[in-house]
Amino acid sequence: AQKYVLTKYFQGEPKKSDFKIVEEELPELKEGEVLAETEYISVDPYMMIYMNSRKLPTDMIGGQVAKIISSRNQKYPVGKYVSGYFGWRTHAILNPDARITQPGFVPVTVVPDLGTHSVSLSLGVLGMPGNTAYFGIREIIKPKPGQTIVISGAGGDVGSHVGQIGKIVGCHVVGFAGNDEKCEYLEKELGFDRAFNYKTVDIRAALRDSCPKKVDCYFDNVGGEISATIMDHMNKYGRVGVCGTISSYSEETLPKVTIMQPVIVSKELTVEGFNVNRWTDRWNEGILKNLNWLNEGKLKYHEKVYHGFDNMVDAFVGMLRGDNIGKAVVKVK
Ligand code: NDP
Repeated sequence: AQKYVLTKYFQGEPKKSDFKIVEEELPELKEGEVLAETEYISVDPYMMIYMNSRKLPTDMIGGQVAKIISSRNQKYPVGKYVSGYFGWRTHAILNPDARITQPGFVPVTVVPDLGTHSVSLSLGVLGMPGNTAYFGIREIIKPKPGQTIVISGAGGDVGSHVGQIGKIVGCHVVGFAGNDEKCEYLEKELGFDRAFNYKTVDIRAALRDSCPKKVDCYFDNVGGEISATIMDHMNKYGRVGVCGTISSYSEETLPKVTIMQPVIVSKELTVEGFNVNRWTDRWNEGILKNLNWLNEGKLKYHEKVYHGFDNMVDAFVGMLRGDNIGKAVVKVK
C-alpha cells in the first residue's frame, strides 16, 4: 500500500516536491474493521487551506471511493463500495461503525446503488460537491421561481450543479467562469441563461446586460473583487451564500482587501457562510435527490478522470488552475 505525505506547506501552486509517496505496512484487521482498496480519489480546493493548517509531515487528506476487499464486519461485506475521507492512499483500514475518519468530516458512507452510473460520481455530482450545491441552494440562498441567481466559479463541480438546480427551480441563471469553453458549455449544455468569462469581460457591464431585474441570490465560490461587484448589483434583501473563497486559497492569488460591508448594509443583504458538513445527518437526502434529477435527465455533469496514483499532484494542480470543466478525479485502480 502507498500513501502521500505532505512534507512542505504549499507556497503558491502545489509542487510534486511538497509531497512524498510512502510505502505503508497494513496491520491485520481487527474485529469490526474492513480493508478498502481505492478506486477513485477526489481533488478539491479545500485541500489547499486545510493542509496548510496541519502540523507537518502529515498524511494528505482526500475524499475517495473504495471497494471493500477484506472484511471483519458483517454489515460491510467484501465487494461493497464505501466513500469517505481516507486520504491520498491506495488502501485504507476502516472501522465504519466508529463513524469518524477525520474530525469534522462526513463519516464513512456506503455508496448507494447508483444503477449504471460510475461510482466515481460519489465524489462529485452524487457526493460532497453535489450536496454542497443541493443544500446551499435549498437551505442558504433559497431562490424562488422567476428570481435571478448569479454564480461565481460556475464552471466547476459545485457551480455548474448550482446553476442547473437554479434552472430546475425556474430561475434566471447567470454564471462567471474562467474560460470561453466553460461558458459555452454552461449555456449550451447546462441551460444557463448567460455565462461570462470573468477574465475577459467587464463584470459590471455583463451584470447590467444579463440581469435586467438585478440579482436576488448570489452563490459565491470565489470571494474577492468579483463578489463585491456582484453584490453591488443585488436587489434589496438579496441573499448571498458564501460557499468558498478560492481566490484567497493561495498567496499568489490573494486579492487585495475588498470592503463589502457598505453594500451589505445599504441593500440589507443576508450573507451566510456555510459548510456542507452541517447536513451530515441529511446526507442521503441530497445524494438521492441529485440521483433522481440525473436519472430524469434534468442534471448533467462533466468529469475529468486522471489516471494513476502517481498523477495525484497533476490532477490537483489542474483543478486549481481551472484546466477542467466540472469535477476532477483520479482513477487509482
Ligand atoms: P471547482 O471545480 O470549481 O475548481 C476550482 C475552480 O476555481 C478552478 O477550476 C478555477 O476555475 C476556479 N479558480 C481558481 N482560482 C481562482 C481565482 N483566483 N479566482 C476565481 N476562480 C478561481 O471546485 P469545486 O466546485 O469543488 O468548489 C468550488 C468552491 O466551493 C471552492 O471555493 C470550494 O472551496 C468551495 N466548496 C465549499 C464547500 C463547503 O462546504 N462550503 C464544499 C465544497 C466546495 P476557473 O476556470 O473558473 O477560474
